[in-house]
Amino acid sequence: MDIQAVRTHLLQRRDELRNRASRASADLRHESDPLSADFAEQVTQRENDDVLGAISHSAQAELRQLEAALRRLAEGRYTTCSVCGESIEEERLAAVPYTNRCRACAESTRNSIHG
Ligand SMILES: [Zn+2]
Repeated sequence: MDIQAVRTHLLQRRDELRNRASRASADLRHESDPLSADFAEQVTQRENDDVLGAISHSAQAELRQLEAALRRLAEGRYTTCSVCGESIEEERLAAVPYTNRCRACAESTRNSIHG
């Protein structure tokens, strides 16, 4: 597995997410789009704010996972399952780049959550 390529990809993704999160929060502060005096227009703006809040929230949640993945990369633990210590399958990391669990551990966690 090409760790350097993974790292480059994660860093690019981090920039994207940071831009998206900061654009959404700038829009939420209505820096370039002050709240309208018209009530109907305000309702539309509030709805838009809800969407922006969700975008900003999910970008920040992904950023946290991404930072954790970058930390594991820096520490040489990126491909090591944090539960059982075995290697995480390459195709699993390709599909779920932020995961810290191998497939077996991810599945057993999921099963235990659902009883
Ligand atoms: Zn495992």
